[in-house]
Amino acid sequence: QSSPKPPPSPSPLRNSKFFQSNMRILISGGAGFIGSHLVDKLMENEKNEVIVADNYFTGSKDNLKKWIGHPRFELIRHDVTEPLLIEVDQIYHLACPASPIFYKYNPVKTIKTNVIGTLNMLGLAKRVGARILLTSTSEVYGDPLIHPQPESYWGNVNPIGVRSCYDEGKRVAETLMFDYHRQHGIEIRIARIFNTYGPRMNIDDGRVVSNFIAQALRGEALTVQKPGTQTRSFCYVSDMVEGLMRLMEGDETGPINIGNPGEFTMVELAETVKELINPSIKIKMVENTPDDPRQRKPDITKAKEVLGWEPKVKLREGLPLMEEDFRQRLGVPKK
Ligand code: NAD
Ligand code: UDP
Ligand code: UDP
Repeated sequence: QSSPKPPPSPSPLRNSKFFQSNMRILISGGAGFIGSHLVDKLMENEKNEVIVADNYFTGSKDNLKKWIGHPRFELIRHDVTEPLLIEVDQIYHLACPASPIFYKYNPVKTIKTNVIGTLNMLGLAKRVGARILLTSTSEVYGDPLIHPQPESYWGNVNPIGVRSCYDEGKRVAETLMFDYHRQHGIEIRIARIFNTYGPRMNIDDGRVVSNFIAQALRGEALTVQKPGTQTRSFCYVSDMVEGLMRLMEGDETGPINIGNPGEFTMVELAETVKELINPSIKIKMVENTPDDPRQRKPDITKAKEVLGWEPKVKLREGLPLMEEDFRQRLGVPKK
């Protein structure tokens, strides 16, 4: 008896869309917080091949460790401000630092990432005929004068402030998306993401939920930035990923708000973290940073109507899931 034949080697035409049955998906910024959860979800589908391009500025290989070496997964060290020549069917374009301390660290780089990075992703989408989704932000509404914020609101944004590299950068990214759509017929999707939280957030990321949980676990006072009455609406990461995938698969270009409409003041958030995680902790008021929006809450009517999507995880359910992940990473076991 002869031994079984080895499987045929992959055809050199494998890169040709014509011979391709799998969906090849690029996630720029896929080593980051939201991106790595999106990778997990997309990898569940055996028809998907996932390519991550990331420069590891705020993301890490650690977030993707369970996929490294998997035959349907590829990780490329790549900065999106440089051209990228690959063949893909869909692009989730997330690459951009999201936390104020990181995007303000090198503001010129942040704006290059938003403008040149998005231009390159659009050039790639145009060359290969891929559909592209941009993760824009609720920051495009600036310090909003309308509450809650519907997609039709044009925003109240300072063009020369310390946050402008991020919020004006994302506004230009949205403009580029629509110009490539109108001028070159590219299939686009734009999500306006509101504050998102969950496992794998950078522990020293500077954002409010990660700060409070890390402080509560380290036994430090929770730092509420003044006045403490400013509000945010927090979406758990699994809800976010579900919303992004529905948007990609649907027929609506957007922009569409994706976020949780539950609205909390920063004092309320601090009190909730204190009650759930460490009741003996103190809360202290500290100075705020410039241009901090006073209120933010998504109007998600459109997401409900066109995507059939709304968030499922309440803040009080999501915080303990994040606490568990932070305990492991900080080495603080539950008593
Ligand atoms: P994150 O910082 O964890 O992830 C961003 C990823 O992009 C990181 O892995 C980082 O290394 C990578 N990156 C940054 N600059 C790059 C460059 N020039 N080239 C290649 N890779 C680069 O942030 P996140 O919270 O996962 O945010 C993901 C996306 O969602 C961002 O576009 C962000 O603007 C958007 N967003 C997030 C939130 C939120 O609350 N987390 C809110 C609104 C919008
Ligand atoms: N680009 C890329 N990958 C591609 C195709 C284009 O990174 O597969 C980049 C390209 O380098 C350019 C940008 O995308 O800087 C915009 O490309 P487009 O073809 O729209 O414009 P042009 O090259 O004509 O300026
Ligand atoms: N904030 C706070 N304490 C912190 C960090 C942030 O009170 O330790 C406040 C901050 O002033 C802002 C809100 O929390 O009003 C959300 O800030 P974050 O940086 O998380 O996100 P963004 O400003 O981008 O919404």
